[in-house]
Amino acid sequence: MDAKTDIKTLQHFIGGEWVDAEGGNTFEDLNPLDDSLYANAARGTGNDMRKAIGAAKAAFPAYKETTPTERERWLLRVAEIMEERQKDLVDCLIDEIGSPIGKAMFEFTKGLTMVRAAAGLCRNVRGETIPSDRPGTVSMSIREPLGVVAVITPFNVPLIKTTRLVANALAVGNTVVHLPSEMAPHLTVLFAEIIAEAGFPAGTYNVVTGMGAEIGDDLTSDGDIDFVTFTGSSVVGQHINEICAKNKTPNTLELGGKSPTVILADADLDKVMPLAARSIFMFGGQACIASSRFYVERPLYDEFVKRFSMIVTKIGMGDLRDPDTVIAPAISPRQRERIKSHIEDARAKGATVVGGEWEGNRCKPTLLTDVSEEMTVCKTETFGPVTSIYPIDSYEEGLEKANDTEYGLSSAIFTHDIDKAFHFARNIGAGMCHINGPTIHDEAHVPFGGNGESGVGREGTDADMEAMTELKWVTVQL
Ligand code: NAD
Repeated sequence: MDAKTDIKTLQHFIGGEWVDAEGGNTFEDLNPLDDSLYANAARGTGNDMRKAIGAAKAAFPAYKETTPTERERWLLRVAEIMEERQKDLVDCLIDEIGSPIGKAMFEFTKGLTMVRAAAGLCRNVRGETIPSDRPGTVSMSIREPLGVVAVITPFNVPLIKTTRLVANALAVGNTVVHLPSEMAPHLTVLFAEIIAEAGFPAGTYNVVTGMGAEIGDDLTSDGDIDFVTFTGSSVVGQHINEICAKNKTPNTLELGGKSPTVILADADLDKVMPLAARSIFMFGGQACIASSRFYVERPLYDEFVKRFSMIVTKIGMGDLRDPDTVIAPAISPRQRERIKSHIEDARAKGATVVGGEWEGNRCKPTLLTDVSEEMTVCKTETFGPVTSIYPIDSYEEGLEKANDTEYGLSSAIFTHDIDKAFHFARNIGAGMCHINGPTIHDEAHVPFGGNGESGVGREGTDADMEAMTELKWVTVQL
């Protein structure tokens, strides 16, 4: 900590020790609200990564033999310490990545449920007995942890992703090396402090901070990595997928989205409108499951656009610690340029734009109508407070257009017609579908994830348990 400025210098957490990067290099972690310096963080090297992987590998044989009671107790202690350190975690979510207090509290509460659900997983790592054709044979499957799990997390929900993936990996007996987003290293460093205080053995959880583009490959391509779980952009996900395919490293990839919401003519707009606003504007649209496409059946279309246009003028853009604030700063200059270019491209090609202005690093909630195929925003993830509204003439057209995407993460439909609602749920090419609810929804024990450009595999207690363990067939001849 720099006494004069209170600016922290973050270190790696390797083998239970806090250490600087090899060579002592650091990088700047900026507060996205005003681009002021929030912290300096160790700029990890390939050698740092190798040390962390070595520590996790060395810790695995003993950790694998720990009992469910021990792992459950450590995880429940993590949840207790998280509650004691709520202010540190929530302040970090606000000042490191620009979360409005409502989103920060939502994430903190979710993070707690992730850890507690993982504690419950410790007793559920089960195989089964299997009938055998060989007389006198007892045949069974036993489920074993894989070894060292690489966890790579994005900037936007760092606490939800860290708690879920690290806690699930540890619950089933793996050790972990974690590369957090270069935009959110402090949140993960806080979590490492909590893990250490909770009593997890040295080396079970290791954190290397740094630039993903510089040291990510040193993590994912290492021969001692037994599983990779990555959450982030589709471009980086594709790169990691290729590395994992080459090395036959099992993995889950949770990537980008262009999630659709279909609103049929019988929907109740009084109920739909607040959910529609929540499903795109929470955290300024920086959610993988944000609804960036709305398809509204013609009889409701004009009214929907009118009401949404009114709502967006009232969405809070004040102090991040004011509970009415919803809109967050866009995380980085690159991301701000991306949002601006998507809006300007749509405007130049004939879209009608409501909003689109900026206050500092925050883009006002933006609605686009008259959007056509040649506009970038039509098919590409913006990751900002921008959504497109399209009229549809029938349910069938809504389904077809909702499916006209390479992504497949979340989806939603609003209707009282149970047949159409279930037809949609069965036929939408997405990993998740919410009937009469917003696309933004997550729980610790559900199969969370997407298809196509949105990823491979699912997260959640059961899904992670299956992905992060392997079955072994064992027989006993009596
Ligand atoms: P990003 O892809 O830029 O970075 C994600 C992580 O990848 C960071 O930790 C980064 O350091 C690391 N990384 C970069 N290059 C790497 C490499 N070569 N090897 C290994 N790691 C590397 O994504 P972001 O901007 O932090 O997050 C936003 C994206 O994440 C959006 O596309 C969003 O939709 C997606 N996301 C998806 C989910 C989901 O569950 N599907 C959840 C949250 C965010």
